[in-house]
Amino acid sequence: DAFITRVSQAKALNAFLVETPDHALAAAKEADTARAAGEALKPLAGVPIGMKDLFCTRGVQTTAASHMLEGFIPQYESTVSGKLWEAGAGMLGKLNLDQFAMGSSNETSYFGDVVSPWRRADGGNAPLAPGGSSGGSSAAIAARLCPGATGTDTGGSIRQPAAFTGISGIKPTYGRCSRWGVVAFASSLDQAGPMARDVRDCAILLENMAGFDAKDATSLQLDVPRWEHGLDASLAGKRIGIPREYRVDNMPSEIEALWQQGIDWVKDAGAEIVEVSLPHTKYALPAYYIIAPAEASSNLARYDGVRYGLRDLPEGANLQEMYAATRADGFGDEVKRRIFIGTYVLSAGFYDAYYTQAQKVRTLIAQDFERAWESCDLLLTPTAPSAAFALGEKQADPLAMYLNDVFTVPASLAGLPAMSVPGGLDKAGLPLGLQIIGKPLDEQGVLNAGLAIE
Ligand code: GLN
Repeated sequence: DAFITRVSQAKALNAFLVETPDHALAAAKEADTARAAGEALKPLAGVPIGMKDLFCTRGVQTTAASHMLEGFIPQYESTVSGKLWEAGAGMLGKLNLDQFAMGSSNETSYFGDVVSPWRRADGGNAPLAPGGSSGGSSAAIAARLCPGATGTDTGGSIRQPAAFTGISGIKPTYGRCSRWGVVAFASSLDQAGPMARDVRDCAILLENMAGFDAKDATSLQLDVPRWEHGLDASLAGKRIGIPREYRVDNMPSEIEALWQQGIDWVKDAGAEIVEVSLPHTKYALPAYYIIAPAEASSNLARYDGVRYGLRDLPEGANLQEMYAATRADGFGDEVKRRIFIGTYVLSAGFYDAYYTQAQKVRTLIAQDFERAWESCDLLLTPTAPSAAFALGEKQADPLAMYLNDVFTVPASLAGLPAMSVPGGLDKAGLPLGLQIIGKPLDEQGVLNAGLAIE
């Protein structure tokens, strides 16, 4: 009841697109009944969570924050959300996001910006971005509207919003969480993961989201480790790598100080610090912004006004005109920009110069990490090159917006588990995040380092 009330009173944040109090209450009642009957409680019995509106939820509108899917009510449940309900959790509502998960500030949503609950302490009262694309999730958790939420991360969309709002979030190894029923952005990168107030809550949620699913061809056929059980804040015997190339030009001194603080914390926890080199880091962002739009342009071809979602059929229009009208109206500017970039880099004349080249770079980046693992177990970096910026500040400049992903995209391209945990506040009193990147399948190592830092 407390969470349902808070959600209903926090409209100014615009974090929830749909509220589903009955769903949350049903889970709470089921937990009460089980408790009264002396039955064993499910792992998430009665826990009310928020669901990023990229996950299809049976009978509940799922929009990907796009006009294209406004009013779309799935007849099926995504595997990840279904697992959470099976574990006893209930849904408080569907959370706002960047349209089709494209963005870093939650400003590309058709349903309006999400406003971070944080404000600068130094007078500037401008509303701040909650990060993106999982900005509804981050704002809702930071404002204590829900104890946890789902996110998805294609190039940083769990980690960067977590960093901007002082919460934790983990993107597991690619293939840990099923993509089935998650609206597709860039299928070779998309991963679901939890966002929560702390590392333990992330571990608990992830255990109940992950697992093999035959309905996702890239799902990993592996058991789900008991990550919560394995939590251990001692890093004795661990070597933590500090990648030289992440010291980018013009790195704000506060971000450098944050990084140094993180290094001191993991040293205190017993880790040995080693400097490592990831020489192709500077090509990660350009490779990502070729590969992700290329896949997006292919994935989004399904929104043609025929099968489901919006259909604009002007009087007397033929099929081509119906496609054009529907897409012109249904997709937002950023989504159109990605489709243009994607179709361009995949076109016959430019395919080799851009798409093939980006795929080769992706392999080099993955090999950089493989070499780094010869001398370290985990990597520690800042999550983002800045604290939260003001809403509107970067909106007119897509390149400035894309640059905010500089530290998160390399792990995405390599499919590695990576987490953001709060690392303290900057001079304006805004949260900063530290990122831990792990070897494939070493979510436990990542979570443990997060625990040592938080
Ligand atoms: N900001 C990145 C983008 O716009 C990442 C988004 C994501 O991870 N979904 O593509």
